[in-house]
Amino acid sequence: MRDKIFAKIREFNDIIIIPHIRPDGDCFGSAFGLKYIIESIYPNKHVYVIGEMTKSTSFMGETSNVSDDLFHTSLVISVDTGSLSRVFDDRVLTGKYVIRIDHHPHVEHFGDLEYIDSNYPSTCTIITDMFREKGIEIPKQAAECLFFGTSTDTGRFRYRGVTSNTHQNVAYLLDTGIDTDKLFNYIYLKDYSAFKLEAEIVSMINSTDNGLLYLKLTAEMMEKLNIKSEEAGNAISKLEYIRDYPVWAVFYSHGDIIRGRLRSRGPVVNEIAAKYRGGGHAYASGVTLDSWDELDILIKDLDIAIVNYKKNMTN
Ligand code: AMP
Repeated sequence: MRDKIFAKIREFNDIIIIPHIRPDGDCFGSAFGLKYIIESIYPNKHVYVIGEMTKSTSFMGETSNVSDDLFHTSLVISVDTGSLSRVFDDRVLTGKYVIRIDHHPHVEHFGDLEYIDSNYPSTCTIITDMFREKGIEIPKQAAECLFFGTSTDTGRFRYRGVTSNTHQNVAYLLDTGIDTDKLFNYIYLKDYSAFKLEAEIVSMINSTDNGLLYLKLTAEMMEKLNIKSEEAGNAISKLEYIRDYPVWAVFYSHGDIIRGRLRSRGPVVNEIAAKYRGGGHAYASGVTLDSWDELDILIKDLDIAIVNYKKNMTN
């Protein structure tokens, strides 16, 4: 599989790499990491990353606008994207040859070649491993992107799924001489106003008796707090590590829909997410709700999952 990918990269002069919608460190890290590796091996190839850059990943580089014509003649690589509807650009399948590289559970086929391995904790780790295994040097600029994405998708190397292989790949990246202090500053540094806002958001947390912590941010609340979707969604990190609350979630208004981010260190949540137009990893998933009334039903579902999980733990 990896050799087929290398052969296709060799074959095409134009390569378009596409992240997913609502991009994160892993999708941009793998996209830019792959771009810089390919460019270092083949300086004459043109590699484009498309998508909407976020503030924290802006150090990686700039995204490009790509014409329909270029799609028709290019190798297109979709990274870190579990389903077609989440690919950033819906022209993805108009590519001459389409490859997927992803670490999400396999739920849907698309493209000509799929390299999907959910044993890896990040797509950045897959990309690193592919080139490390071949003994191919990873340039420092690529290593910064791949380190950033691995670090963010593994919760700073803490999550289940982090193995000795993850650390071996990270060591390979560190050996390029990257400045991890600088990279962690991109992750952790925040404005004072954002810090004050966090305190306000934390004071709005709800809980159930069984162990669900959740935030409900309606359009009115978001307007009052003067926050956009990205900041609302990021509040998920404030709810982690609260003893006796194995599941936590943030629900926030986004246009006509309500988005939810679910996290767990107990019951598996992606099967529940799938019932609410969502999906993702076993312990980190997302949902799309039609109304706040639907949230009440989802909360009951999550609560039941926590109760069952606790029962199984005591049996
Ligand atoms: P997030 O909370 O956005 O970080 O998403 C957690 C995981 O769930 C990621 O791997 C996403 O790709 C996945 N995910 C989020 N929302 C959805 C959705 N509506 N459908 C399928 N997967 C999703």
